[in-house]
Amino acid sequence: MGPRQWLESWPVYRQLTGTDPLGRGKAAESPRSEALAPRTASADRVARSVCPYCAVGCGQQVFVKDERVVQIEGDPHSPISRGRLCPKGSASKQLVTGPQRERKVRYRAPYATEWTELDLGTAMEMVADRVLDARRKGWQDTDEHGRPLRRTMGLASLGGATLDNEENYLIKKLFTALGAIQIENQARI
Ligand code: SF4
Repeated sequence: MGPRQWLESWPVYRQLTGTDPLGRGKAAESPRSEALAPRTASADRVARSVCPYCAVGCGQQVFVKDERVVQIEGDPHSPISRGRLCPKGSASKQLVTGPQRERKVRYRAPYATEWTELDLGTAMEMVADRVLDARRKGWQDTDEHGRPLRRTMGLASLGGATLDNEENYLIKKLFTALGAIQIENQARI
């Protein structure tokens, strides 16, 4: 390294002689930092999504490369969050790509001590069967005076704070259509 190169490798020299007198940009940048590129730059495509963690519903951009999620960042076009994510939302790539994420339906039958794997179709059929059975068993057509009730006491819904307005709207519609009258959300309790 010659004397000039040595001088130029010194950030304060670049600060005093270059276009960055405050030393908050180029002057403070090392060659290694200069050579770095963000993961988002090499993504094949970007999908828009919503953070799954809480009911604020911040917009997200999901960067995909070779059909794998490589980064998740705030969506600047979201009217709710305008590009921002809290630390939890910023870490949601781990939720998608983490090695501990369950990727198959796991089922533990009554009295069983071990989990077994189910395919999604079978699991959905089992859920539907149980919902219909509980609805039927708890159905009340009329009260003791013969007045119409047409409701089921066999089903109730308790939503969590991760549900946003749209999800709560759909859940309310679904459960009301099923005849349930006990439809609540944790945020109201
Ligand atoms: S980024 Fe944070 S505030 Fe926004 S939805 Fe996710 S968890 Fe909620």
